[in-house]
Amino acid sequence: MSPSDGRHHVVIVGGGFAGLGCAQRLADDDNVRITLIDRNNYHQFQPLLYQVATSLLAPSDIAHSLREVFAGQDNVDVKLAEVSGVDPATKTVRSTDGEEWTADALVLAAGSQPNFFRTPGADENSFPLYSLDNATRLRSRILGLFEHVDRNPSLTERGALNFVIVGGGPTGVEVAGALADMLAMSVPAEYRDLDVGAARIYLLDYGDALLKPFSEKAHAYVAKVLTDRKVELRLGTGVKEVGTGHAQFSDGAVVATRCVIWGGGIEAAALAQNCGLARGHGGRLDVQPDLALAGRPGVYAVGDIANIPGPDKQPLPQLGSVALQSGQTAAENILAEFEGKPATPFAYRDKGIMAMIGRGAAIAEVGKNHHEVHGQLAHMAWLGVHASLMTGTRDKVEAIIDWGWDRFTKTGGPHVLDRGDVAEINWEDDPAISPPGVTAARSSRPAEAVP
Ligand SMILES: Cc1cc2nc3c(=O)[nH]c(=O)nc-3n(C[C@H](O)[C@H](O)[C@H](O)COP(=O)(O)OP(=O)(O)OC[C@H]3O[C@@H](n4cnc5c(N)ncnc54)[C@H](O)[C@@H]3O)c2cc1C
Repeated sequence: MSPSDGRHHVVIVGGGFAGLGCAQRLADDDNVRITLIDRNNYHQFQPLLYQVATSLLAPSDIAHSLREVFAGQDNVDVKLAEVSGVDPATKTVRSTDGEEWTADALVLAAGSQPNFFRTPGADENSFPLYSLDNATRLRSRILGLFEHVDRNPSLTERGALNFVIVGGGPTGVEVAGALADMLAMSVPAEYRDLDVGAARIYLLDYGDALLKPFSEKAHAYVAKVLTDRKVELRLGTGVKEVGTGHAQFSDGAVVATRCVIWGGGIEAAALAQNCGLARGHGGRLDVQPDLALAGRPGVYAVGDIANIPGPDKQPLPQLGSVALQSGQTAAENILAEFEGKPATPFAYRDKGIMAMIGRGAAIAEVGKNHHEVHGQLAHMAWLGVHASLMTGTRDKVEAIIDWGWDRFTKTGGPHVLDRGDVAEINWEDDPAISPPGVTAARSSRPAEAVP
């Protein structure tokens, strides 16, 4: 019990789906007070980051102030801080600026971060897509490239319109489709002098299919939709190195590019490394079926930061629905613990999976039996599910207006280049890329990218 006012104190690190689900459930209990700590003052809706990056939605459509979310709940205290250390024995967390919070129960919900798999240059030179900051950076880089080519078309020969997307999971597929749609529709309307026919989108994956968790029929469907939209698929191929002005593929090809988009994988948030706890697959914290850490009473890990065992004992995938439900179950187990009742094992309610491939094209596997739907119907299902999952009513309305605007005008959403630093490019800074007209020395397939 907290000595301050007699209420139990729960500290939650992270205001994503998992932290929010946990805090909202706990907030219903007046005998509990909650401190929710996040390094951002907002909750971000990760599934729609690619739509911000490709100018379909505005950042404010997918981010919601955490203080606003809990404005009506006096027992939730939101703190803007980056947690850098955890003492599981005393259930204390410490921020980068030295403040400490001690709790009766501690919930770690700090999510994921990109995993570059030690690919040389990827961390420094590619554009990951895991946060709102990542999405606005990428948007400015994409728009910045169009501006550069608009003024100097010869930059196309130096890779200014080559986009390399790493990873054929939902992030890679969704951004590839959205970028292809952008190049086909909104870019020609706004950049009248730009030769969009010269643009190339490469989508790479080491595996033999895109969107691997879906069926073979779905694999064929997604490959066809993207190929029809002029996305060049490179299956069985990864990226070996990312330079400031090029990407080297695992088959030896060197592609001149100023935009490598990283959707190549995730690992647990850095916090998992700093809490003195054993880490399992993906650097994540292995939890017991009740979501508590073994041998650490009162310490829970939920969402992407945790390896949560499914019915077959294998870890559940890193999904928004798993995060939200695990946060809610952790809250129920914490309340049970405070009341001296037994904990309940987490039981994931699988409602299916879906991915958007582009305008009018999506795949959904709905319900427990994963009944598969493709095309417009799946697109509509995707719109409905994502609108209903968004945190605030205003976000939903604004997103629906932007989606409707895009659908009927084909001009896309807000094309705002607001990160001038990201749009600035030194075209001479990559020695691996030969001057225009000269073939790149290291390329085994030079014709494809460096004329
Ligand atoms: C591009 C993309 C697309 C996706 N699409 C889908 C989809 O279509 N459907 C689906 O179900 N799932 C999707 N996912 C996965 C889903 O978004 C995640 O599984 C979910 O967001 C995990 O929730 P979480 O609360 O565990 O982590 P997060 O949502 O990542 O939240 C973690 C929070 O912790 C905060 N934080 C991190 N470290 C610290 C620290 N040290 N101190 C303080 N705060 C910290 C962060 O700021 C963040 O607010 C997608 C993910 C990405 C990246």
